[in-house]
Amino acid sequence: MEITDSLRFLKQVKKIRQELKYNRENFWSKNKGNFRNNLKTLASFFPAPEGWTLSIIASTFLLDRGEIMPYDKDVWSFVDVVSGTEAQGHEIIVFFNKTDLEFLSAPALLPIVIHEMRHVYQIPQDTKNSILSTIDDELNRELEKDADAEVRNFNDEFRKENVIEKVLFCFDKKGWSGAKKMVDYLYKESKDAFGGGYDQEMTKAEYEAFSEASEEKDIDIFIDFFIKTDHSEKDSETKEKLD
Ligand SMILES: [Zn+2]
Repeated sequence: MEITDSLRFLKQVKKIRQELKYNRENFWSKNKGNFRNNLKTLASFFPAPEGWTLSIIASTFLLDRGEIMPYDKDVWSFVDVVSGTEAQGHEIIVFFNKTDLEFLSAPALLPIVIHEMRHVYQIPQDTKNSILSTIDDELNRELEKDADAEVRNFNDEFRKENVIEKVLFCFDKKGWSGAKKMVDYLYKESKDAFGGGYDQEMTKAEYEAFSEASEEKDIDIFIDFFIKTDHSEKDSETKEKLD
């Protein structure tokens, strides 16, 4: 995916922040209905590496019990080499976890798709190390760093969109305690989860905006912070002028 391909998703951000403030119930169900198509559209910007077949699955773990929330640890997505020789074929599989993702809008899905597809492109570059990383934490951290660096090449509003949607979804489902769990995961834990190597997903300023909202018991304070700091419109215009 080129940066220019991402602009049409960047343009959706401003309107979405308003929907997040005024019409969230409809927003979550709309995203759920569009999830399959949104993911297909985003994935279509990432062609399979030459000589490899790429299969994408979006599903849940069959034996999930009870209600799993996005702040729970067992909602991961993954990329794996199914086979990597001439005789067995060259097959890569990508799994997107619906429990973690299906309530998100396309702009909020973008960072996770970029991240996972970067893992896809790591495979032909160094197949052996891609496979070895599953049993080597240091190697794994390098590959995770590389995947998150690619996410950082795109507009920061996409990361912010992922953060605000996850936190508000947990707020709507589980109230302040659920939102707090999501915030703590994004701000404190995600960086070192699964062996680490990830970017911090939430900034200090965003964390503080949540703390203030939580003290005042007014979630709009948190949403307003994201509306106030939204650069999506300006950034998409400047970018289009440059191209
Ligand atoms: Zn990863």
